[in-house]
Amino acid sequence: MEYTQYGKTGLEVSRFGLGCMRFPADENDAIEMVRYAIDHGVNYLDTAYSYQNSEVITGKALRDGYRDRTYLATKSPIWLIKKHEDFEKHLDEELDRLGTDHIDVYLLHNMNVANWETVKKCDGLAFLDRMVEKGKIRHKGFSVHNSLRAFKEIGDSFDWDMSQIQLNILGEAQQVGVEGLKYGSAKGMAMVIMEPLRGGHLLSNAPAEVHQMIEGHPEKRSLVEWCFRWLYDMPEVSVILSGTNSLQQLKDNLRIFQHSAPNSMLEEDQELIGRVREAYESKKSIGCTGCRYCMPCPSNVSIPDIFKLYNNYQLVKPHQVDKFFYKNVLLPSGSGADQCVSCGVCQQHCPQSLAIPDLLKKVHAEFTES
Ligand code: SF4
Ligand code: SF4
Repeated sequence: MEYTQYGKTGLEVSRFGLGCMRFPADENDAIEMVRYAIDHGVNYLDTAYSYQNSEVITGKALRDGYRDRTYLATKSPIWLIKKHEDFEKHLDEELDRLGTDHIDVYLLHNMNVANWETVKKCDGLAFLDRMVEKGKIRHKGFSVHNSLRAFKEIGDSFDWDMSQIQLNILGEAQQVGVEGLKYGSAKGMAMVIMEPLRGGHLLSNAPAEVHQMIEGHPEKRSLVEWCFRWLYDMPEVSVILSGTNSLQQLKDNLRIFQHSAPNSMLEEDQELIGRVREAYESKKSIGCTGCRYCMPCPSNVSIPDIFKLYNNYQLVKPHQVDKFFYKNVLLPSGSGADQCVSCGVCQQHCPQSLAIPDLLKKVHAEFTES
């Protein structure tokens, strides 16, 4: 296992972090998996108040001395917060579930527009500082599925120790993206990566050409290995979370992370990732190239961003993250497809001759259906 510095905190963490969101159905199997990971060098676990029974099972797995061998991260359920006192009430509940007297890394969960407003309104940042003073938490962080601009605003507004972002080979410039990764790291935040395989759908929906390219590459690695490798090659990445749901998967991940030092990819390896990305892109269903000639829209519709979300969604269905982003970030920000008044201005500038207003209606209907 490779280890790295966790931002400015002084912690040394394994580059592989166990995501505790997709535990095996059987509790004993889950406990065995967590302990196997720790016994094989993993020292970072990530759970959340909202991950079903995860905190309780994680707490059981960390008995018998395992707690002292790990850094434990969990998250505050911001959407349940109505007043300042609720933050500590939920934290105490989590400490109880996890059977511990402190959380090493405590995150404000999913800083979308609404949740960030709640944090500001209910003084969530002061809560974090107070909990550090009380010793209930050691380090302060946030997780985010949001735009780069929002990420920078949140990142600049507090002395954060870490941030958890979505990043994978298809999302180089999506949401916070690589630019946000570098921005956060330069500020001294530990950068933790979630959804490296988009919940596994990046693998299950891989076009046939992708497998052919990988098989034909001189360096023999599996698709999952290339997905992880592209991430751990970046020195700004502290921990990559993988939510394994079986011991077999965990063992495979541990094998991949045995040699996960940064800056190890050759130029030809990066080229392979570029071709793999193009193969996924060619399967997208709206032929938007992202040229942005249609922008700005007088009604503030984020046309290329909406089409990008939709195309990504088509690639990794039934994974819902793009849908959530549309509903919880783009729509509340007033730049969703619902703002389109069908003026047709954008269409005149589109080199791909896309029927933009009709496509926006289609995307909006699909993204907002329950
Ligand atoms: S048709 Fe809709 S998206 Fe296009 S410019 Fe007009 S309002 Fe904006
Ligand atoms: S002009 Fe057309 S192809 Fe270019 S970003 Fe807008 S919708 Fe996409």
